[in-house]
Amino acid sequence: MQSRAPLISAPTQFLYKTSAMVRPLILITNDDGAHAKGLRALRAAVSALGQVVVVAPTFEQSGMSHTITIDRPLRHIDHGDDIHSIDGTPADCVYLALFEKRFLPRRPDIVLSGINHGANLGTSVFYSGTVAGAREAAMRGIPAIALSMLGGEDVDFGPSAACATELCARLLSTSRPNGQAVLLNVNFPKGSFKGVRVSRVGRQIYEENVIPRRDPGGREYFWIGGRVTDNGQVENADAHAVADGYASLTPLELEPTKNEHWALATAIAGVSND
Ligand code: MN
Repeated sequence: MQSRAPLISAPTQFLYKTSAMVRPLILITNDDGAHAKGLRALRAAVSALGQVVVVAPTFEQSGMSHTITIDRPLRHIDHGDDIHSIDGTPADCVYLALFEKRFLPRRPDIVLSGINHGANLGTSVFYSGTVAGAREAAMRGIPAIALSMLGGEDVDFGPSAACATELCARLLSTSRPNGQAVLLNVNFPKGSFKGVRVSRVGRQIYEENVIPRRDPGGREYFWIGGRVTDNGQVENADAHAVADGYASLTPLELEPTKNEHWALATAIAGVSND
């Protein structure tokens, strides 16, 4: 087990390099909806660290990736106690929270997305609304953590919410070179776990199912997707950490240019490589 000092038992005013007079402002979103069990557990736990505001989807948005809603109005419900819901995606929620003044008193110190009901391992980081909610903030230089837990509605989110709080406290108190944006993807195993392991995005392979069916009116429709069949051969993959009983923590890249393919791209462009 990797050592994890119990940060949350320490007086919170000593945890931050930001002013001890100002409690950190924590924005929480998710893709399961503002009243999801995982979000409520996270909110309850991180309230020990600072002021928490929830801006999350009114309806479940799992698998919506980084969709933003630009072709219809977005409706807002104020549920009280700094809990808001928006009938859009996680990215919409974070965008609105950051750029519409009514939601937050100032720019948040950190954005947490989750705790998602279900894993976001391997290539799921591309499909995940949870990860996108965190990425929307990280793109703007705000440190962000996407949090997911294997299993569904029935799991006990308590231990993972407590661990998420420690990770949040550490990220808040860690200086980042040149104020660099940080985007972390965390996955908790179902049940208790041994510690946290830093890992890489694996290559989870799903069953590539297409199931054609017919509706009662006789029109054909499809179900796509399936279960995970393989975790790929990536060394130190996130899914391997979780399978070994650890919470997986993966730092994600925000700069998509693939430098290794610069020469290939210039060759294909037909220009000299200089
Ligand atoms: Mn979800």
